[in-house]
Amino acid sequence: MAHDFLARLGIDAINNGAATKGGFIETTGRVITITSPGTGEEIAKVRLANLQDYEKVVAEAHAAFVKWRMLPAPARGEIVRQMGDAMRKQKDDLGRLVTLEMGKVLSEGLGEVQESIDMADLAVGMSRQLFGLTMHSERPGHRMYEQWHPMGIVGIITAFNFPNAVWAWNAMVAAIAGDVMIWKPSLKAPLTAIATHKICDAVMTEHGFGGVMGLIIGDDADVGTTMINDRRLPLISATGSCRMGRIVGEAVAKRLGRSLLELGGNNAIIVHKDADLDLALRGVAFGAVGTAGQRCTSTRRLFLHQDIAEEFTSRLVAAFKKFPIGDPMESGTLVGPLIDEDAVQTFLAAISTIQEQGGEVLCGGTRVDRPGSYVVPAVVRANVDLPVAKEETFAPILYVFTYSDLSQAIGFQNDVDQGLSSSIFTDSFRASEPFLAHSGSDCGIANVNIGTSGAEIGGAFGGEKDTGGGREAGSDSWKAYMRRQTCTLNWSKDLPLAQGVTFDI
Ligand code: NAD
Repeated sequence: MAHDFLARLGIDAINNGAATKGGFIETTGRVITITSPGTGEEIAKVRLANLQDYEKVVAEAHAAFVKWRMLPAPARGEIVRQMGDAMRKQKDDLGRLVTLEMGKVLSEGLGEVQESIDMADLAVGMSRQLFGLTMHSERPGHRMYEQWHPMGIVGIITAFNFPNAVWAWNAMVAAIAGDVMIWKPSLKAPLTAIATHKICDAVMTEHGFGGVMGLIIGDDADVGTTMINDRRLPLISATGSCRMGRIVGEAVAKRLGRSLLELGGNNAIIVHKDADLDLALRGVAFGAVGTAGQRCTSTRRLFLHQDIAEEFTSRLVAAFKKFPIGDPMESGTLVGPLIDEDAVQTFLAAISTIQEQGGEVLCGGTRVDRPGSYVVPAVVRANVDLPVAKEETFAPILYVFTYSDLSQAIGFQNDVDQGLSSSIFTDSFRASEPFLAHSGSDCGIANVNIGTSGAEIGGAFGGEKDTGGGREAGSDSWKAYMRRQTCTLNWSKDLPLAQGVTFDI
């Protein structure tokens, strides 16, 4: 193998696609080949798991849960701290694998692993802060309080574009909550999952908690479908497209389970007439072409006030024309490849549709003639009702629209099915406050003078409407991974009933 970090991460030429207590299971499913989107080279193969493997992983997860939940939360936090340290030690290798397998530029690959380390640190603190409220009982000699308990086995389904961090958003918090987990990663980036699992499971196993971190790499049609319909998994946390979210949400709701959905976005930035345009240009550029437009929070739509629209558009097009596109491993590259050839075809099809619908491609919109799946990011000028702009094309296409009145711009921004991230650039309190007010942005994330992507883990992350309503990472997101119990204790010698009801015998 050309990349010696693969061996250090335990990636073999052919890898088994399921792991539980005791390590990886000998899987027998079909074999898939993972190639690098940056070069087209083969990296390694994975032999997928089948339903028998899935059953073994679930059985071991259940056995692990019975033990793991008995460990006090701060002690679970200490083990999570050590997992964070283990990832710290292998950050460089793991970040390189993210870049090799997924194609994001190296600083983003390393940043993704840093995000997982940060999640571990955050979860350690949370492990001492799983607070419940106390209430005053209406009855004399009574006390009421609520407490939070672990739920059980959490199914974690992840998208290809954050092959390491999306798992950590879930796993680090689920672990301190006392849950165990079964991770089903995207078949487009399973090697990062295997390496991440090996690093973290080694820490769990050292402490006698193998089986807490289950891994299953299989097809959606069998393993995925079985997992989302499995009543033994009380919570399914799924990150991916709105299409997938509808399937998962319906299946889990049918069995009255809980789902946490983190789905697609169609994020917009408003640049108001009084904005610092230098700042806005950098925010828009990173939002639109960072990760080659393959972030759920990527900036896809731009609303420019008419007074600055012409100047800003020409500066933007000039910047787009200069972005270094190329090997994501090389320093200086700002735009790496798309994940695969299908993604290139989707990008090119969207460009054709834009032209058919009357949009004007100001720059980019073509593929790059070199091995790998590279495209040139596009800026498109259009009327605000361009139909294709209402969809999330998971590629670097930025639609530019003009507005005259701020409330009109906020209305345009909200007029899509998704509700993940939004931003305004302005130097005026009178523009930022209406944007942040309840009548303003309808998204889960609303920023002022920073772009739509690159969220910090301290806040709750997620979006509204078709984005699914889930919240992960910081703030009180841990509550999604626990069950709440309200307790009433009577220390009096009487048994008064609530609401004055009498029942004397
Ligand atoms: P995808 O929907 O194709 O796949 C996501 C995951 O769902 C994969 O692991 C896939 O195997 C699994 N899946 C698909 N159908 C399934 C089924 N029927 N049963 C069980 N599992 C199933 O998405 P993708 O192409 O990997 O990722 C890109 C999408 O993810 C974009 O829409 C992006 O916006 C979204 N995303 C959202 C967030 C967020 O936090 N909101 C974060 C990252 C990515």
